[in-house]
Amino acid sequence: MGESYIQKGLDALMTRLTMILTILPLLLVAAASLRADAPVYVALWFDTEDYIEPAADDAALRIARDLTGLGVRATFKVVGEKARVLEQRGRWDVVRALALHDIGYHSNFHSVQPTPALYLRDLGYVEGAAEFERREGPGALDLARIFGVRPSCYGQPGNSWAPQANAALRHMGIPVYLDEGSQVGLNDQPFWYGGLLHIYNMGRFQLRAPLDGGEPAATSDERFDRAAAELRALGGGVISIYYHPNEFVTTEFWDGVNFAKGANPERTAWRRPRRRTEAESERCYRVLHDYVAHAKSVPGVRFVTARELLQLYGSPSPAPAQRAHVAEHMSARQTFLVTEGRSLSAADMLLSLLGMQPEVVDGPATRIASSLDRASIPRAAFERAKADAVSFIRANKRLPAAVWIGADKLSIGDFAATLSGDDRVAAEIVFRRANLEFEKYFSNEPRKAFDWPIHPEGFSAPELLELGKLQGWTLKPARLR
Ligand SMILES: [Zn+2]
Repeated sequence: MGESYIQKGLDALMTRLTMILTILPLLLVAAASLRADAPVYVALWFDTEDYIEPAADDAALRIARDLTGLGVRATFKVVGEKARVLEQRGRWDVVRALALHDIGYHSNFHSVQPTPALYLRDLGYVEGAAEFERREGPGALDLARIFGVRPSCYGQPGNSWAPQANAALRHMGIPVYLDEGSQVGLNDQPFWYGGLLHIYNMGRFQLRAPLDGGEPAATSDERFDRAAAELRALGGGVISIYYHPNEFVTTEFWDGVNFAKGANPERTAWRRPRRRTEAESERCYRVLHDYVAHAKSVPGVRFVTARELLQLYGSPSPAPAQRAHVAEHMSARQTFLVTEGRSLSAADMLLSLLGMQPEVVDGPATRIASSLDRASIPRAAFERAKADAVSFIRANKRLPAAVWIGADKLSIGDFAATLSGDDRVAAEIVFRRANLEFEKYFSNEPRKAFDWPIHPEGFSAPELLELGKLQGWTLKPARLR
């Protein structure tokens, strides 16, 4: 008896749940129509990387022309060697067709060993940034020479991610990071990190119509519609869609057949990947064409390039915010704050509390623990420490890992927490411990985050995740202007 009573209750609950689930999409659509003006931007990008199979040149050309025909501009992230090969093969038709879109950068050699995570894993932040620029800089210059524009964005080959790239890319004048990966992410939407606008780790807003597997177009289209409706309900945002031109003409990846598990054959020994048939390629072009045509027809949807996204999201430097609010936030937790229509990183707020002008700085290059074992710091010693922190940041455009109180150290986190709690009057400043909340936006899986068939088997890079977390001082949501 009791059982059937419970059963009835459960049945009623299930009925209600089913009802809610049935009307949920309708509610979403209704909410979306209320905010019909909220923009949904689609970043469509192509990692243009296969420099071994010449048919991949034709694939890039075909895709670029199809999209131009649809009135859509995409972002072609080109590998340095791919650009040089196009030049050598005299494929100016491809160069011209791609140049009508936005040109991004996808590393100098992509999969020739050592790839970025390999050569950066054992290097520090500053040394690593210099090494990244030494190895990858020439390819970006080749792109500028061949395409006539400086690349607007960069994204790592495979999962060969490393935080030192951010400082190098800023120095190279590349302001956007456009790719996919799990090392760092913020609510499936664009964010600022290391001074670059990141369209990265987009989760439920990273979509595609699969080329293989026979998914009906209606299914991919519905997935797009749902994501667009959700974004509109959230007040607007970005959907990220990516392909590789080589996928349209080959059934296996050009690098997988040559550089898997750390292999590095000589150029003369490179093998060409297996081809799709002409009919299969045509079917793939049709999938992309129809998917883009559908997305474009959805009200409020606009295709944008990486360069345009930078215009839409503005600059990483914030206008100063109210000091009391910043201090209250930072004394409890060191992480970004969205307030008064501004987005502030922990680094932005630390600079503001130190009385500095807003500017892009890096996070600390190392992690140093506090050695201070007192409950408070005398005013004069603390003011000297503040002045020294300001001097370090001005000189290095980077946060110090620690700040000195005489012969004792305060970690940058403990220093920030202590500074935030200072009323600027007391003779003794109470020592507060850090709560680096921004670290939760980083992966703690050093093997999974770098999992890529081209990396040596079992490759793991906890050092890069740690360095990435240290740069979490610069992390904050990007806000549409
Ligand atoms: Zn790639």
